[in-house]
Amino acid sequence: MLPFAQPNTICGPYRTSSDGSMIFDVRIFDLHPCQFGAICNEFYDSKHVQNYSHPPLCKQWCLTGTCTQMNEIVHMFSFIHRYPCRYGAQCKDINNEKHIQEYEHPFYCSNGGYCQDTSSDHEKAYRHLPMCEDSQRCLKYQEHITNHIEKFRHCIPNCEYENSCVHLHEREHYENYKHPFPFPCLITPYRCPLYQQFTMAKEKQHLSSEIRQHCLNFTHVCPLGRNCTNNDPSHLETSIHVLEDGELSNKERFRFLFDP
Ligand SMILES: [Zn+2]
Ligand SMILES: [Zn+2]
Ligand SMILES: [Zn+2]
Ligand SMILES: [Zn+2]
Ligand SMILES: [Zn+2]
Ligand SMILES: [Zn+2]
Ligand SMILES: [Zn+2]
Ligand SMILES: [Zn+2]
Repeated sequence: MLPFAQPNTICGPYRTSSDGSMIFDVRIFDLHPCQFGAICNEFYDSKHVQNYSHPPLCKQWCLTGTCTQMNEIVHMFSFIHRYPCRYGAQCKDINNEKHIQEYEHPFYCSNGGYCQDTSSDHEKAYRHLPMCEDSQRCLKYQEHITNHIEKFRHCIPNCEYENSCVHLHEREHYENYKHPFPFPCLITPYRCPLYQQFTMAKEKQHLSSEIRQHCLNFTHVCPLGRNCTNNDPSHLETSIHVLEDGELSNKERFRFLFDP
């Protein structure tokens, strides 16, 4: 049996039974057949797999790792002989030749060195070039030097802390990593009077444009933290709700807000 045959797992169009002994293809018959059939390279893409049906895995290949009919074109187009790597483009073994031969991996993103899409769906569905160390400040990128942009990617990477970033006021960190909120107000996490008026006002239009602009352009730490029930999109986009478990540095930094 191949090493991927873990009990009760689903990968691409396949799943294994609870004892791990058999592999079934999950086939849904009212789907359109994928035009690439057994040579489709998109099994790692769950959207694609949900929308198109694919041929089953070759049983002999599944159980033994080899197939005696590899020279028969009809057989090779009727049954799949490779398995999608469950890590997709984020696979750590993507440069390991042996692994590449055994598992199917995504194609390179067509935007090459210009790709800016760092959403996790996109990162998993497409392979990407290695990052250029200078990212968007790279002179060759700004001058559109083709042979450099063909080799390196120039996007701003996501900050790994996302909504609970502890480097709130470090402008350099802020410029080097993408955050889901605007640059924080310099007063925050201390109580910013503009933000306080903004959150308390029922009719925001009646506030001065200075207050409205300030609260849209800068992020503030919401004093209610995790207990906040304000689902207004403009509040969620411009407020940080810290105090996640295990975020000790944030807790310490903002302690006075929560234990006055
Ligand atoms: Zn397909
Ligand atoms: Zn076969
Ligand atoms: Zn892999
Ligand atoms: Zn891309
Ligand atoms: Zn560069
Ligand atoms: Zn950050
Ligand atoms: Zn402020
Ligand atoms: Zn809030």
